[in-house]
Amino acid sequence: MKALSRKVADIAPSATIEISDRAAQMRAAGIDVIGLSIGEPDFPTPAHITRACINALERGETHYAPSPGIPALREAISQKLETENDIPCTPGQVIVACGAKDSIYEAMEATLNPGDEVIIIDPSWVSYEPCVQLSGGVPVHCGVRESDFQVDDSLLEAITPNTKMIICNSPSNPSGAVMNDASLRLIADAATDNDCYVLSDEIYEKLIYGKDHVSIGSFDGMADRTITVNGFSKAYAMTGWRIGYAAAPDPVAKQMIKVQQHTISHPATFAMHGAVAALTGDQQCVEEMRCEFDVRRQYLTGALHEMGYETAPAEGAFYAYVKTGGDDMAVSARWLADAHVAVTPGTAFGTPGWVRLSYAASLDRLKEAMHRIAVLPEK
Ligand code: PMP
Ligand code: GLU
Repeated sequence: MKALSRKVADIAPSATIEISDRAAQMRAAGIDVIGLSIGEPDFPTPAHITRACINALERGETHYAPSPGIPALREAISQKLETENDIPCTPGQVIVACGAKDSIYEAMEATLNPGDEVIIIDPSWVSYEPCVQLSGGVPVHCGVRESDFQVDDSLLEAITPNTKMIICNSPSNPSGAVMNDASLRLIADAATDNDCYVLSDEIYEKLIYGKDHVSIGSFDGMADRTITVNGFSKAYAMTGWRIGYAAAPDPVAKQMIKVQQHTISHPATFAMHGAVAALTGDQQCVEEMRCEFDVRRQYLTGALHEMGYETAPAEGAFYAYVKTGGDDMAVSARWLADAHVAVTPGTAFGTPGWVRLSYAASLDRLKEAMHRIAVLPEK
């Protein structure tokens, strides 16, 4: 047979998905694995959101919708971005896609030409680099300062005349760090000075502990070059619904809509009605889940520190990023094999020597996981 796509052959599989699949297989074989490898809220989707979707199904909202999303949802999203995030946005600039992951991919397809460079700030979520590669771009990595996980001048050193986009992800997956004003300013100035786009992935904006979320698209002049991505998976425990969105400058939005028309068309129509209820309904459910994550965060980081581990600043999302001081691949393999605790090695996020633990698991399971790791015999 002729060779398959080199572009796809060259990208890595998703480590987060692969490890959680492995944990699921072990569980199916009767092993009590504690899954801390995938970032997925363990709460049910709030009932009023599910109800709105069921109502939509019963009303017969089972047909094609406008490709960029149903008008009520695009309207609700643009209002949310204007009022909560201070980002100027019309409904026409909003594209609703099958999860934020899809929005990120579409944004890259819409903006990149072969050879265009995209700066990824490590540690970084596993899918940024493959999305850049699939879109014909070239990933260029830089790091954060290890002392506080903020952006420093290494970002400027990574910029070349071919830089087209900088990815900004605050709160960060996997580190949990929240970018301070200086980091956001550095990115905004670098993008402006070098005429680049910023892709701001704000999917964890609601899961933040003791800090305020700031959108880079709200900075003076940045709305024209920022594609703000967000979604429903994390804040509303809607991972399986596959609804995310991007708000982009008009010319980019027009390109993204073309990509969407020829690929997914749009997310499930009835699911979009559920998403309208999520955004326009009572937000107390979001706060309740955030508070519960905060309890787990405090427990988990406290337990890790007691065991002598250093962690990144756990200020947002639902991850503890832990310095292993050794081979992270070996540590995570050992924790899975011997303690039956699944975690994701930092190598998958561009930072070997660290592992990511998700605290989107019950307090009891987190306690059991810490106990199992603590009693592992020294190697
Ligand atoms: N961005 C980040 C940083 C994430 O952690 C995730 C989680 N999968 C996504 C985007 C995509 O989320 P979804 O496609 O479920 O909206
Ligand atoms: N974003 C989550 C994670 O990092 C879900 C899995 C994925 O899509 O990568 O675990």
